[in-house]
Amino acid sequence: MVTSLRYVAFDQLHENYGVMKDASPEHDVIVMVEGQAMLTSTNWHPERLYFYRSSARHFAQRLERQGFRVHFLKAASTVAGLKELKAQYPEAQLIAAQQNSIAQRKRLESIVDVTLPTDFFLTPADVFDEWAGKQRTFVMESFYRLQRTRLDVLMQGKDPVGGAWNFDKENRLGPPKNYTWPAPLEHELDEIDREIAAELGHTPSTAWATTREGALAQLEYFLTHHFAAFGPYEDAMVNDSWSLHHSLLSPYLNSGLLHPREVLDAALTRFNEGDIPIASAEGFVRQLIGWREYVNAMYWHQDSEYKDRNGLEATGPLLPLFDDASATQMNCVSSIVRDIDSRAWLHHIPRLMVLSNLALITGTSPQAFLAWMRRRFIDAAEWVMVPNVIGMGVHADGGDMMTKPYAAGGAYIARMSEYCKPCPYNPKLRTGETACPFTTLYWDFLDRNSATFAGNHRMAQQLAGLRKLSDLPEVRERAAEVLEGMAEGRV
Ligand SMILES: Cc1cc2nc3c(=O)[nH]c(=O)nc-3n(C[C@H](O)[C@H](O)[C@H](O)COP(=O)(O)OP(=O)(O)OC[C@H]3O[C@@H](n4cnc5c(N)ncnc54)[C@H](O)[C@@H]3O)c2cc1C
Ligand code: SF4
Repeated sequence: MVTSLRYVAFDQLHENYGVMKDASPEHDVIVMVEGQAMLTSTNWHPERLYFYRSSARHFAQRLERQGFRVHFLKAASTVAGLKELKAQYPEAQLIAAQQNSIAQRKRLESIVDVTLPTDFFLTPADVFDEWAGKQRTFVMESFYRLQRTRLDVLMQGKDPVGGAWNFDKENRLGPPKNYTWPAPLEHELDEIDREIAAELGHTPSTAWATTREGALAQLEYFLTHHFAAFGPYEDAMVNDSWSLHHSLLSPYLNSGLLHPREVLDAALTRFNEGDIPIASAEGFVRQLIGWREYVNAMYWHQDSEYKDRNGLEATGPLLPLFDDASATQMNCVSSIVRDIDSRAWLHHIPRLMVLSNLALITGTSPQAFLAWMRRRFIDAAEWVMVPNVIGMGVHADGGDMMTKPYAAGGAYIARMSEYCKPCPYNPKLRTGETACPFTTLYWDFLDRNSATFAGNHRMAQQLAGLRKLSDLPEVRERAAEVLEGMAEGRV
């Protein structure tokens, strides 16, 4: 007899966690809903739609092979689908794990009978809240040290392995010379993949797996070919590799195909074999148990209006170059936008120091930029995009998350990338027709916001630099030209 309907969301695709943890084929019927509202609510990147839809279909098939009865419904919305199934099984209770977004938790409240606490992250809300309650500012480094100690990761008693909590200085090298990057793992399409791709009229890249086996293969490939060298070049941007030594695991971690505990355990086991430098191991662990957990916990810790914040009162429209690589001559931006077109992914530095930096210094509306980021990335979800964009990327939360904005001129991009040499602009110049737009707009941004940042001691050096500029009127003039040219797709 069926006693429960268990609802599996498309971002909770793991048989040992969430609602599947104690499910049994004898008593439970599984429900998955492909809500049309979710698919058509915005102009999603087709690679992202393909990934989520195909991963969910594969997961349903996997559960069927384990003996579960699975209803995979297409409905107007998730709630409409769940209501339809409840009507078919009036005696059964509907069980779900806590959803990963504020809006979806609210929507399901009225229809779900039993809600299980989410276990897709490593940090219980009360642990984070207790930490946050003791902080003046939410500095990630302090949270990360708590995580290392609490989870006993890379620790020797009370001290960090290698004698330091972080190896950031070693992990910020620019592009290496005469270096061969291992090719990324390619994932072949199967019948389900091809069916979904045909429905979408999309030709998927081979960058992403849509099965648990494929996600595990990606983890193994990372540990074998990339982990040892992960650290030093994690911030670099190069022409001959789109993924460098990054793990490419974010889509699977966010869809549930991999659990962070599995990734952490596998990484530590590999580290304990002895040939992984501590700077690389620490660099990766920092992303996984530090940044990822911090960002998720911040999403739940802040109020639901956090995503609407606009502390710098930026109201500019989204520039055409974000959606069209040919609408700019800036080599860094056009290369990066083309990369997004190809596979809906970039590593953290082009997301932060090129795209978010550009939105920040052009005064683009944080909400317009956030909506664009959400629809263009394969691993985007509200919980991860809102803090990363509003807090870290464009400093729209007034500095609650980051003590200073990540604003930078062309010098940073020139140091960390290979984009500037073939670019028609010069990162060293801030005025004139060939001045790098990042350099011009960086100074203009500081100038426009100097009163706001006046009391921020972490901005003192930049503001002192601004005061020394003898050509500020020309910078302002050039900035106005650059903004106009960008809006018209000329710059
Ligand atoms: C403006 C901005 C927007 C971002 N948007 C997203 C997003 O929508 N989804 C997403 O998963 N990540 C996002 N990130 C974080 C990071 O860029 C990606 O997680 C990473 O590039 C994914 O590639 P990877 O799996 O190879 O990561 P690796 O470099 O191999 O890192 C390992 C893992 O650490 C986690 N991680 C690292 N940094 C972060 C972070 N800041 N927030 C959350 N998780 C992190 C990811 O799960 C990642 O898979 C964003 C960062 C910035 C600055
Ligand atoms: S010169 Fe400026 S616009 Fe051109 S690639 Fe470098 S940073 Fe980008």
